[in-house]
Order: sequence, then C-alpha cells, then structure tokens
Amino acid sequence: MVIYNLMEKIVSLCKRRGFIFQSSEIYGGLSNTWDYGPFGVELKNNVKSAWWKANVYGRDDILGMDAAILMHPKVWEASGHLKSFKDPFIKCPACLQFFRLDTIWDKIWNSDWFTSLRETMMGDKDSSYLLRWAKTEGKKLAPNLNLVKEPEVTISWIADLHHKFGGVEFDFKTYVGRIACSRDGIARTPCPNCGNPLPEESMAANLMFETLFGPVKETAQKVYLRPETAQGMFVNFLNILDSKHP
Ligand SMILES: [Zn+2]
Repeated sequence: MVIYNLMEKIVSLCKRRGFIFQSSEIYGGLSNTWDYGPFGVELKNNVKSAWWKANVYGRDDILGMDAAILMHPKVWEASGHLKSFKDPFIKCPACLQFFRLDTIWDKIWNSDWFTSLRETMMGDKDSSYLLRWAKTEGKKLAPNLNLVKEPEVTISWIADLHHKFGGVEFDFKTYVGRIACSRDGIARTPCPNCGNPLPEESMAANLMFETLFGPVKETAQKVYLRPETAQGMFVNFLNILDSKHP
C-alpha cells in the first residue's frame, strides 16, 4: 500500500532525525501520543510562533489568550458536549478491532486485502480469478472474509454483478458488501482488518477524556480535558471584553 508505506517512511525518518518519537516507546509505546525530539520541539515552536505572529500580532481584530486544559464540567454540559460528543463505532466480533462508522468504507478501500483483490480483478476477469485469490492471497490477508471462508457460495451470490473493478458503473459498496455477505445473500459491511462481516449495530464511543480533580479520589470531581480548543474564548469572552474596554 503506497500511502501506508510512505507514512511509515516519514515516521521512521522523523524518528532517525530526532523530530518525533512515540510516547513511552521504551515501555512498548502509548498509542496516539507523541514526544518531540530536539529538532521536533524547535519545529513545533517555530510553527506555533509563526502562526501566532500572523494571526494575533498581524491583525487588529484578534486578541491572544490561553485557556487551561481542564475546565469546569458545567462548561461541557452547557455546550452540549457531554450529551452529544460521541462517535458511532463498530467492533469486529472476530478480531475485536474498533472502527469509526463514517470512515469504515475508506478503511476497506485502503485495506491490504481489498487492494490485493482490486489488483487481481483489474481488467476483464472471470470468477476463477476470484476463486484463486480467495484460496491464496485472500486467505493470508482477510481470513474471515466470506469469499475466503466459503468461496463457491459467495461467488454464486455475486455472479450477477460485474466481474471487474473500476469504471463508472462500478458500485464499490454493493460489490464488497456481497463479497462479505453471509449465506442469506444480504450485503454486509466487511471488517477492514480481517474481512469478517460486521454487526449492524454500532455503539457510541464517548470522545471526552475524563479525569478526577481533587486530592482524594472519593471526593474528587469528574472533569474533562478540553475537547474543543475554541471553548476557552467563549467562556472568557466577557473577561477579555471588560479588560480591553473598561
Ligand atoms: Zn475483524
């Protein structure tokens, strides 16, 4: 996969040159958190200061401010974040990975198994290619895909669809859905990772990062890391207005 390989190259270059490292890498790493190395911190500070100069010093209608990362829970209650700052997720029952519902088809399109399947079926190919793929590459890349588990049954379901990818008439979701469909023939969404048909039901994942505020756990208040950068300027609007226009 071209994009994935490019990203891997960039990450390893950044690490070698001391720009950025995965946080806590020495203990196996903490996902989605990063530490800046000697060049990285300089680059980050330069970008930050160039942005500040252009957007704060360079304009008459903007004032600078910096809000604490923790805010009173009532702020998030009033803004609606506590109630609705959630994303629908789907969990694959086979490989137990979580996927955001709105990005799932992009993930399938960019997955190793679909890329391989697409390349195999490029041009005018009949179902024997599909069968061969299911028994070789498919087995390695998407072991839980229905096409891999029951190739003959699945191929009979998709026999009425085009046996090629690409072109204006190509309906990606229908085609891939049929590939992952079970014996009942209903198109399902395959897991981008292992190909297993995903459940219809999604779950809501709360995107708020909560922590406890106070010296003792029992009496501590539940607070949240600011999930929206802009909130600081809203809750401080009157303070800033009063301080600049007494
Ligand atoms: Zn899976």
